Amino acid sequence: MQIYWTKINKIIEETPEVKTYLLDCPEDFTWEEGAHTHLALEGFNAEDKPNRSLIRHMSISTLPYENSIGITTRIREQCSEYKAILRNLEVGSELAIFKTHSNVPLKREDKNVYLLSSGVGLATFRPLVLDYFERADNVNKIHSLNIDSSKNFLFKNVFESAPDKKFTSQFVDNRKDYYEEVRNLATDKEGLFYIVGSDEFLVQNIELLREQGINLDQIMLDKHEQTLSKFLSMDAPV
Ligand SMILES: Cc1cc2nc3c(=O)[nH]c(=O)nc-3n(C[C@H](O)[C@H](O)[C@H](O)COP(=O)(O)OP(=O)(O)OC[C@H]3O[C@@H](n4cnc5c(N)ncnc54)[C@H](O)[C@@H]3O)c2cc1C
Repeated sequence: MQIYWTKINKIIEETPEVKTYLLDCPEDFTWEEGAHTHLALEGFNAEDKPNRSLIRHMSISTLPYENSIGITTRIREQCSEYKAILRNLEVGSELAIFKTHSNVPLKREDKNVYLLSSGVGLATFRPLVLDYFERADNVNKIHSLNIDSSKNFLFKNVFESAPDKKFTSQFVDNRKDYYEEVRNLATDKEGLFYIVGSDEFLVQNIELLREQGINLDQIMLDKHEQTLSKFLSMDAPV
């Protein structure tokens, strides 16, 4: 396993609780849209066994052409040791990244793509949308729906409806509006539905989509094969 040590080159305050850490790109490091990585704090490998409390999975919210690895995360006042350390890091601080992989690249199958996310889950989708803007081949259109009860919606410059690009973006701040809209979107029985959020959020979205007759192979989650089948087999087949 290759561990890349890199430095923070910029910290963006996206909202009062959400920050994006832009990291220098190591020379031979690249990634696909939808990728996540393991982001580790200094000292994580100081002992024989890696210290898990200093490691988290994080999506990469940028694309390689932006020349930085973007990590977007919510840091609440009451937070884990990991987030408390991260909050105090500055430009120039070192972080390690390893085991980078995309479970949710943009599928180019001449279908409509629906990106369903909660809160900072939108970070996973930012590179998918940028990739689509660069090259729309074999994607009919993209619709993003994000729920954030804080109302501090993220990445508004990218997630702005653009009819000429066949891209629509919707933000809602409550569950009623959110699930009503998912029901609407699920009237497209051929669409591809990507979901990113907490496990509870995934379960509720999968249940609703399945009730509306969406097949399992139309649902994409940021999960490894094994966990994926556990999630997708929770309900009875239609
Ligand atoms: C594939 C994948 C991609 C992911 N991508 C991202 C991403 O891009 N961005 C992202 O932010 N996360 C992402 N995650 C989730 C991430 O790995 C963390 O699990 C998540 O950010 C929570 O971090 P945390 O455990 O440090 O807890 P925190 O966010 O700090 O806390 C979680 C909850 O526990 C409470 N809590 C925790 N510790 C304490 C304490 N000591 N005292 C009191 N309350 C406490 C907090 O109040 C909060 O409600 C991803 C996960 C996966 C699997």
